[in-house]
Order: sequence, then C-alpha cells, then structure tokens
Amino acid sequence: MLSSRYRPWHVPIFLGKYAWLRLRRRPVLLNFEVTMRCNARCGFCDYWKTPAETKHTEVAEFGEIARRFSPMLVTFTGGEPTLRKDLEDVVASVRKSVRYTYVQLITHGAMLTLDRAQSLWHAGVDQFNISLDYLDERHDLARGIPGLSAKILDIVPRMRAAGIGGVRFNTVIKNDNLDQLIPIVERAAALGGGVNFSLYTDSKNGNRDFLLDNTQHANLERAIHGLLAYKKRKRGIITNSDYYLEQIPRYVRGEMTEPCQSGITTIHIDPQGRVRRCPDFPPDGPWQEYRGYKPIDCNACYYACRGEAQAPIRIVSRIRDVMA
Ligand code: SF4
Ligand code: SF4
Repeated sequence: MLSSRYRPWHVPIFLGKYAWLRLRRRPVLLNFEVTMRCNARCGFCDYWKTPAETKHTEVAEFGEIARRFSPMLVTFTGGEPTLRKDLEDVVASVRKSVRYTYVQLITHGAMLTLDRAQSLWHAGVDQFNISLDYLDERHDLARGIPGLSAKILDIVPRMRAAGIGGVRFNTVIKNDNLDQLIPIVERAAALGGGVNFSLYTDSKNGNRDFLLDNTQHANLERAIHGLLAYKKRKRGIITNSDYYLEQIPRYVRGEMTEPCQSGITTIHIDPQGRVRRCPDFPPDGPWQEYRGYKPIDCNACYYACRGEAQAPIRIVSRIRDVMA
C-alpha cells in the first residue's frame, strides 16, 4: 500500500526505478539508523542501553547519502528516531535529495503527538510504521512503557483524521501473540492503516523467551493460514508478500537453508554514517566505501527484510498489494 500522497500512476514510476536500481546492482532500500538511543525497555533488544553521550556522534548527512544512492525506499529507524530533535531536517534533506523515493519512519510511538506527526509528514515522511505486538497492556509490558498500546490506538485515528495517509503497524510474530495477529489486522483495517509482520528471533540480544518452539508449529501454521486467507479476501492491509508469510513456518521448523541476501537490495547506515549489511551485523566502514555485499551463509533471523529480499518477484501479486 502507498500513502495518500501517491496516485496509481506513480506505481509504474516506482517499478521502473526498482528495475533501474536492480540492473545497476544498487540497493533499493536504505535504512537510516539515525540514532541507537531509545527510551523503551524491551527485553529482546539492547539499543536502549546505548549511552546518551553517543548523541554527539550522530551524523546529519543522510541527505547526501540518499543523493549518492538514489534509493526507491528510505526507512528512518533506530533506536528511536523521534528522539532526534533534528529529525524533520534530516527527513527534509533526504526528500530534497532524491526524486521518487518512498520515505518510512519506524517508531515505538510513545512520543508521537499529533503535532510531531504532522511536522514529520510535512517534512516528507510518507508512512509511519508504529510497532504494535499486542492490542492490550502486554505491549506496554514488553516495551517497558506504561499506557503505550492505548496511546498508539488513540493517536492513529487522529493522524488519519488530520490527513496523514500512511500509517502501518509493525508487528513481531512471537510465541505469545499468535492470538493477536488477526485482531491487529482488523484494527488496522478499521483505522485505515496496514500491518507488516516480521518473525521474532533471538538474534538481537540472545533472549529466547519469545521464540516459537516445536509445540507451537500447528498454531503457527493456523495463524499464518489465517493471514494469507485475509490477504486473499482483502488486499492492501497486510503488506508482506505472500511468499514471506508462507516461508515463516518453514524457518521455524529449521528447514531454511538458503543463504541470506542482506546487503544486496537493502543496506543499513548507522548513526555514525557507517554501512552494514543488516541490523544485526557490525558496521563495515564509512558509507562511501560501500561496494556491495555477497550472499552470506547466515540463518540467525527471518526478519521481513530478509524474507522479502529472498522472495521471487510475483509481479501480479505485488502490484495488487501496492495498488490496493
Ligand atoms: S526494539 Fe525498538 S523500541 Fe525496543 S529497545 Fe529496541 S529500538 Fe527501542
Ligand atoms: S540472517 Fe541475514 S539479516 Fe538475519 S542476522 Fe543473518 S545476515 Fe542479518
């Protein structure tokens, strides 16, 4: 799904840009990790332990990086990007540097007031991706932010009413939220938004508490079947490809052996301007030295970004997703 800033005639332009980037072996998606600082307290990610002083080492040259790569998609991520007071300037500089790039912002949403959302939207954010793994207080507990799920469910309709056209939930599939997947999709649909799923793994900090285990295969298959059936009934709410969803049970059963394509169509730029192949690998050097990555024999995660990079292009199905 595209945000309300775009019209159906933009789709062929983006597809053309995608083909141009792939032919030149350039990344399609740049993830700008604008800060590693975070004020949540998630048990499955240690970014919130990043010292506050690192703020002084965070660069602002993301516009220049975007100009050099001219990606089709840019994601501002972290840490928690809204901790940066200059985020609007950084977004605007990227927006100014590249024509036809779709700009997303990943946030836990705790500091997202309507004013801030509007100023980021006007700076050039096309889509707000707000993390939401449960519709109730379990989300607050998991993120260590009291009242978080209620706040998110309050701000999203106000953002939509204010004309912000791209809002999506980012939902991590864990061992204790399989019952939440369809309710989150239905809530997103009711609010005029979407949902993107990604599978939980312990690759961030080794926390195995939320890993799906052998006893849950049947429940997982049922949940994934439910998501695929929902997609068939109603396109444009669940933004994952069918392929990614279909492969999740296979990964959980330990049957995935394909090398990981991270760093080929997507790269990450850390807050100091260094490039890395994925969020869980260390940086390799200044972004100017990026020369591409080769597939790697790593099976540590099955994040959506890995799965989508592996997905065969089922062009009809993806265009139907985007147009919807
Ligand atoms: S998962 Fe996101 S919200 Fe939680 S600590 Fe890490 S960066 Fe912060
Ligand atoms: S599987 Fe790929 S994306 Fe995941 S941690 Fe390994 S290299 Fe990174």
